[in-house]
Amino acid sequence: MDLTLIQKLFEKEPKYRFKQIKKAIFQDLIQDWQEAAALPLSLRNKLNKEFSIKIFAKAFVSKDKKTIKAIIVLKDGFKIETVLMRHKDKRNTVCVSSQVGCPLKCLFCVTGKMGFKRNLDAWEIIEQVLFFARYLKKDKEKITNIVFMGMGEPFLNYQNVIKAIKILNDKEGFSLGARHFSISTVGIIEGIENLIKEKLQINLAISLHAPNDELRLKLMPINEKYPLKKILNATENYVKRVGRRVMFEYIMIKDLNDFEEHAKQLAKMIKKPLYFVNLIPCNPNGIFKPSSSLKIKKFKEILEKQGINVTQRYNFGKDIQGACGQLVVKES
Ligand code: SAH
Repeated sequence: MDLTLIQKLFEKEPKYRFKQIKKAIFQDLIQDWQEAAALPLSLRNKLNKEFSIKIFAKAFVSKDKKTIKAIIVLKDGFKIETVLMRHKDKRNTVCVSSQVGCPLKCLFCVTGKMGFKRNLDAWEIIEQVLFFARYLKKDKEKITNIVFMGMGEPFLNYQNVIKAIKILNDKEGFSLGARHFSISTVGIIEGIENLIKEKLQINLAISLHAPNDELRLKLMPINEKYPLKKILNATENYVKRVGRRVMFEYIMIKDLNDFEEHAKQLAKMIKKPLYFVNLIPCNPNGIFKPSSSLKIKKFKEILEKQGINVTQRYNFGKDIQGACGQLVVKES
């Protein structure tokens, strides 16, 4: 489905038609055009035939009911995963995928192991959000945050990611404010630079995971092309020009990047206003194990002593393979 195609189809129709359509999809969250009571029957039939809004997905709910993972089947049969995290305070965060698989092959991440299949189009990104918006409607709840932290690297699919965000941002549609979106990247410089030009107040997160190039290169092959210095320069520009806080994600891997000396290096590197670190206990992937809670606590204390703001990520959805870096779709 493509909204711009619908718009074309309606060029000859009165303007309010397109508004009605956006309202039906994004506010009333209809699952079939027949539910769009404001539209004439002939139009509903036409839309159902040419622009299906059915989403083919299967949901898995974690034992504590806080995490729901959906596997969505795309039109060409590829599958992607998307995760809903329901927080206590009625915040509902959707973690969306931007690609089928991922080309980056970070050593700690399972998605990389499935290789790269293709980019998602804007509608396939939006579909992930709509699936959970419809799901939450039953409980009279809404999606409050969207994070690009699922499968793939959002800045290697820049155009479609931004197009999806702008559509979801539209006041006449889903109307989620830019400040409620976060894009997580391994540090694709061009992506950061382009995002500055959009003049949107989107949150930026950088997957850092190591405090020096030598170690980072061992974990993330992309560091060859985008070393830390370049990434930090681009990030500084983002903060200067956009004025939003930037999150540095740091997976804590047992006996690898979790020593005192790493914490000190990290503190030195990112001691800047509006920067903060998010510590993530590594989800085991066959090679790496998470650092002990004691080690994470010590690491956090060193950072805090140096004046760095630190948060620790709650690990949602481990029992349904819905946690960070666990998203992979096995071919069936
Ligand atoms: N490619 C982008 C978007 C994916 S985000 C990026 O890397 O930022 C996926 C998040 O999950 C990233 O922060 C990534 O570093 C994290 N992640 C990957 N593997 C993980 C693992 N084994 N344990 C915990 N977090 C992991």
